[in-house]
Amino acid sequence: MLIQYGVNPDGERMVDFQLKARGISDEKLIAIMSLIPRHLFISGKKRSESYGDYPLSIGCRQTISQPYMVAVMTERLRLAGREKVLEVGTGSGYQTAVLAELAKEVYTVERIPQLLKRSKKLLTELGYQNIYFRSGDGSRGWLEAAPFDRILVTAAASSIPPELKDQLADNGILVIPVGGSSNYQQLTILRRSGNHFTVEKGLGCRFVPLVRE
Ligand code: SAM
Repeated sequence: MLIQYGVNPDGERMVDFQLKARGISDEKLIAIMSLIPRHLFISGKKRSESYGDYPLSIGCRQTISQPYMVAVMTERLRLAGREKVLEVGTGSGYQTAVLAELAKEVYTVERIPQLLKRSKKLLTELGYQNIYFRSGDGSRGWLEAAPFDRILVTAAASSIPPELKDQLADNGILVIPVGGSSNYQQLTILRRSGNHFTVEKGLGCRFVPLVRE
C-alpha cells in the first residue's frame, strides 16, 4: 500500500456488510477500501453518512458513488499494480485514491474545476504522488498520456466515446456505465485485443451524465 492509513472501524464495517456480503472477493481491494478514510472525501452535513450504502452529494450537483459500485467497477478493471489508468470523473477523489493504491499511476480528469481543485488538494495532502490531474472534458481522453492499460469512466454515456476506445492499450480494459436513459445504465466492459474489441454488459446502475463539451 502506498499510504499508511490507521485502523478505520467504519471502513471495516462498510466492507463487511456492503462488499464481502455481496460477493466482492478481491482481498487487496477490500483491504484498501476498509482503510481509506472515506469521510475525508465528503464535506458538510453529509459527512456523518460517509459510510452509508448509497451515493452522496458532493456539491456542484454531483455525487460520490456508492461504496459497492466503487468496488464493482474497480474489481472489473482487474488491476495487478503495474497499470497506467485513466479515470474520467474525479468527483470527490475517493475512487481516484482506490485506483492509486491498486495501480501504478492514475491520470484523472474532471470537468468541474471546483471539484478538481478540492480533490487534488486532498489527495496531495494524503501523500499520493502517482496521480496526475487535469481539468476538462475527459470523454476525449488524455491524448498526450495515452495509451492506457485501463480506463474507468464514473459518469454515464449514451455510447462509448470513440476517443477512449482509441486510447485503450492492447489487452486493455475500459469500464463505463452506458445507457440511453438518465435513470438506468448498464456497467459495460470493453476489452481490446489488437484492433478487436469485445463488449460485455453487466450490472444495472445509475450515474450522473458524462457531459460532452
Ligand atoms: N468517482 C467519483 C467519486 O469517487 O467521487 C464520482 C464521480 S461522479 C459520479 C461523476 C463525475 O464525473 C462528476 O464529478 C462530473 O462532474 C464528472 N464528469 C461528467 N462528465 C465529465 C467529462 N466529460 N469529463 C470529466 N468529468 C466529467
